Amino acid sequence: MRVLLPRLLHRRWTAVLTAVVLLASGFTAMTASGAESGCRVDYTVNKWTGGYTAQIKVTNLGPALNGWRVTWTYTGDQQVTSAWNATVTQTGGSVVAVNTSSNGALAAGGSADFGLQGTWRSADPAPSGFSLNGAPCGGDGTPPPTTPPTTPPPTTPPSADCGSAVICSDFEDQTGPAPSGAWQFTAPDCQGTGTAAVDTAVAHSGNRSLRVDGGTGYCNHAFVASTADLSSVGPVMYVRMWVRHTTALPAAHVTFVSLPDSSQAGRSLRVGGQNGSLQWNRESDDATLPAQSPVGVALSRPLPTGTWQCLRFAIDTTAPGLDTWLGDEQIPGLHADGVPTQDIDQQWLARTAPPRPTALRLGWESYGTGDDTLWFDDVTVGSAPIGC
Ligand code: CA
Repeated sequence: MRVLLPRLLHRRWTAVLTAVVLLASGFTAMTASGAESGCRVDYTVNKWTGGYTAQIKVTNLGPALNGWRVTWTYTGDQQVTSAWNATVTQTGGSVVAVNTSSNGALAAGGSADFGLQGTWRSADPAPSGFSLNGAPCGGDGTPPPTTPPTTPPPTTPPSADCGSAVICSDFEDQTGPAPSGAWQFTAPDCQGTGTAAVDTAVAHSGNRSLRVDGGTGYCNHAFVASTADLSSVGPVMYVRMWVRHTTALPAAHVTFVSLPDSSQAGRSLRVGGQNGSLQWNRESDDATLPAQSPVGVALSRPLPTGTWQCLRFAIDTTAPGLDTWLGDEQIPGLHADGVPTQDIDQQWLARTAPPRPTALRLGWESYGTGDDTLWFDDVTVGSAPIGC
């Protein structure tokens, strides 16, 4: 049995498109005399190739309950990888969702909402056999969805505004060519020919962005660090940035985002590339996400060049959990959760301590070959989901 803790991502769902709605509505007069005589489950799935999220609403049509347990069956190869507002476990195709400590009370006629994220490979038919505390919600006569899914975006942080973000920078307040104020140049290990500057010729918003000219070879590191202390951002740290690269990610390992991580004694959680595609790397043990097997690399994505790209991360600081979006696509190979998946996060999960990033550095670091001119703009870090 795989046990997944709720991720408490506090996602706002109003922006999520509804692709398929399955209503398991049920109870009849014959069962109405039972103590738990009726329930309705609205299971709304939002899926894309290889993955899905589901928003589930359980409505209690019987007497009030103190504690609930919703079960259902997957007949495809769906696999739940994380959940929020419920503790969800899966054994084979059987799934059990149990209330958290804060949402167990279900009044007569009341409802509770929870959500989950999962993967699928070859088949993902609608689930069936919903029950609440053991009482069926309509049994197996549930109609299948009638509308084939379109291609909705995956779950995306809905808000593009900064809200209470700790970092929210469009670099428009930078006054000179050298980074200043809330952004400071740094070369953590050694500096060669790498440079960083405020650029007034290329910008995603306004008239300014941060430009980095990174050189090949280990000592041409160049970073610009935010002065913001990120050590209390969480429990999930959301990062959004617009990046523009000139050169495709090389075969060799490179980094362009470096997050000093107190769980690694200050060594960095890094975002960069290897084998031509995006990857996460952990400095302390050199683990990569995905694994650098051909299958793993294929589950990541190259970073397009010559255009601005919206790159977003969700870093769970309390449990193994890492998600990455390029534009509206959640990249399957850049996803870590509590369940080791070969070619993706099996190696990554060898270290169980969740990351605790404390700062943000943007720049360029190569360890062998690979140079690039790249820009950053509209950089946001906070405890709430952030849109592009
Ligand atoms: Ca700008």
